Amino acid sequence: MSEPVKPLDLILAKRAGYEHSSAELATFIDDYVAGTVPDYQASAWLMAVCWRGMTEAETAALTEAMARSGDMLDLSGLPHTVDKHSTGGVGDKTTLVLAPLLAAMGGTVAKMSGRGLGHTGGTVDKLESIPGFKSSLSDEQFLRQAREVGVVVTGQSKDLAPADGLLYALRDASGTVESLPLIASSVMSKKLAGGARAIVLDVKVGSGAFMKDLASARQLAVTMTAIGRHAGRAVRAILSDMSEPLGSFVGNAMEVDEAVACLRGEGPADLLELSLTLAGEVLGASGLPHERQALLDAIDSGRAYERLERWIAAQGGDVTTLGRLPRASEQWQLRAKRSGVLARLDALPVGRAAHALGGGRSKKDDAIDVGVGVELHAKVGDQVRVGEAIATVYHRGGRGLEQAQRLLESAVAVADSATRPQLVIESGLGHS
Ligand code: URA
Repeated sequence: MSEPVKPLDLILAKRAGYEHSSAELATFIDDYVAGTVPDYQASAWLMAVCWRGMTEAETAALTEAMARSGDMLDLSGLPHTVDKHSTGGVGDKTTLVLAPLLAAMGGTVAKMSGRGLGHTGGTVDKLESIPGFKSSLSDEQFLRQAREVGVVVTGQSKDLAPADGLLYALRDASGTVESLPLIASSVMSKKLAGGARAIVLDVKVGSGAFMKDLASARQLAVTMTAIGRHAGRAVRAILSDMSEPLGSFVGNAMEVDEAVACLRGEGPADLLELSLTLAGEVLGASGLPHERQALLDAIDSGRAYERLERWIAAQGGDVTTLGRLPRASEQWQLRAKRSGVLARLDALPVGRAAHALGGGRSKKDDAIDVGVGVELHAKVGDQVRVGEAIATVYHRGGRGLEQAQRLLESAVAVADSATRPQLVIESGLGHS
């Protein structure tokens, strides 16, 4: 029988730069979740990981241990299970387009999604802006809907990778969030526990993203695909721009309407492009048809939209409201101070503006206003004329308006010339 692992030994070993074994990491995670490793020792270990890093094998073993700390969803009876994860952005409603598109192409999307925190939105909040939509289902309902409709999306279960929930709270409070192996294991433990065989990761880069520079985003993407490979899953990753918001709307209900428009063939080019890229990657990884034209046919023929309606209806949502969800009625417009080309539309302050209006939460249990948000009338590279509206703010009784105005004014710059950012910076990461 192996010796029990003492948390202090692990802290000292990591502090000195040694590699942990898989068994040591598994015991440490099990003991931490069981409450026998105190928070002060776990935080000291997290800080040592921040400074010393982890090898690929250690990161894979940590992820596996975190994934196994709770329920592992068994989706093995379902055909072509596919999943997607985004590292979080502003205006990113891609899951709402992607999920029905993947189902229309033969994939099964049985997915748990997060809520918004800080300046980034969450898919579950967006879905809950549809009247009647239920984001909490029993295990039996979840699996039945996956089988019958091909799409089901619920909130994150507390029983899925509980080690991540505990460690994330500790990282938040101990200055240990920004560590590549810790971020990678946090994301991938939830994905592995989520059960899908093929996974695509959208790693965002830019001012509105977690990863501000290309080199660290690429390293995170490569680390996460390697973890997936170790665990026997087909994982692909892309790097995409998040220097400006995705699409033209930032705000929960408005983002649902924009995704609906995209599935009706009337969406903005960037949202469509990103959705097609992610769909191509994960369908390819799953062995399903994934050519661009086939994906466009699924949208143009209405098959993807029909899948959206079946999905929303199956979870109790009122499909007659799709495309015309109620918005806050009061408006304010940001106007161009000069003519020229929009050279900057910083995602971070736009996301913060939507948050200030009441559309986001600062604490996990805050209530949000799904009808507020920001509509963007121009994107980087577009011509604007002096006095023309660049953005419209939808607010409720002036709540957060002054702050939103300040943030939006700081977000934009008009210049004589500017080039459009490249949306998909790199794709196909993780292909062996
Ligand atoms: N998202 C996660 O799920 N975990 C992290 O550590 C960072 C972003």
